[in-house]
Amino acid sequence: MKEEISRVKEELEEKLKKVSTLKDLNNLRVEYLGKKGKVTLLLKKLRDIPPDERPVFGKLINDLKLWTQEKLEEYFEIVRKRVQEEKFKSERVDITLPGRAPDLGAYHPVHTTMAEIIDVFVRMGFEVAEGPDIEDDYHNFQALNIPPEHPARDMQDTFYVDRENFLLRTHTSPVQIRTMEKQRPPIHIIAPGKVYRRDADLTHTPMFHQVEGLLVDVDVTFADLKGTLTMFAREIFGPETRVRFRPSFFPFTEPSVEMDIQCVICGGKGCRVCKYTGWLEILGAGMVDPEVFKYVDIDPDKYTGFAFGMGVERIAMLKYGIDDIRLLFENNLRFLSQFR
Ligand SMILES: [Zn+2]
Repeated sequence: MKEEISRVKEELEEKLKKVSTLKDLNNLRVEYLGKKGKVTLLLKKLRDIPPDERPVFGKLINDLKLWTQEKLEEYFEIVRKRVQEEKFKSERVDITLPGRAPDLGAYHPVHTTMAEIIDVFVRMGFEVAEGPDIEDDYHNFQALNIPPEHPARDMQDTFYVDRENFLLRTHTSPVQIRTMEKQRPPIHIIAPGKVYRRDADLTHTPMFHQVEGLLVDVDVTFADLKGTLTMFAREIFGPETRVRFRPSFFPFTEPSVEMDIQCVICGGKGCRVCKYTGWLEILGAGMVDPEVFKYVDIDPDKYTGFAFGMGVERIAMLKYGIDDIRLLFENNLRFLSQFR
């Protein structure tokens, strides 16, 4: 019996050394202390021992049981620590690794350009005005001195919503009319927005953006127009930008001009973009035609004013050196992400 006790003890000591998981330990607990465990069986065997020897062996087996419990607990701590350390090791995070930057969006170059144009004029004291994209014939044409038989109304250029009256506005000029209908001078507005024409090629799209401006007050002169637009061009294209005004024609301004800036690509020497003239047209302008004032009941003998309008895509193309307007509408991410 004594031998059996020490054999069980030695065997358990050997097995404990090989334990690597908590599950192994639990199996050992069952193997030795369970209902049919080796230590439990030894206790049962006490019955077969002569009564006078029972106390001695009873103590030995009880000591073994206590020793086994202690050993199992001791190893439980050891294994638990080891398992935890391994877990920490496998979950280790290298905090010196660089982070992964999230993909950032960017404003569309047309939006950015429009915001810059608006900002320049707002700093000069202009206010932003808006109007509907679907206009009636009166505000888009007639009140701007473009009567029904005028060649500027060519059906080719306009999207009509119905044959009679409604159309997608071909310019933001009707906002000028709508503003003058409800507001008396002094008026100083810019009207940014979408406009629509039946056009599609390298430099034209069926929808594009315009910013128009209108200033009406007493004693407004052509010098005010030149000064305002020259300052605008230098704010957008740089303080050294040279400008020139050429006579032109618009039904709603008299006199009318087109403004050029010295070519931003070649600096005026002449290149493909400026068609070897050294100049680039960027906007149309003029003194408000007294005929237009009559439509909105403003006294042309008392008030004068100037108006101007420009295509935002054209300004963006010149600013960023874009040679095909369609790039601005194709939503190609490789193109757009350059403007981040
Ligand atoms: Zn050029």
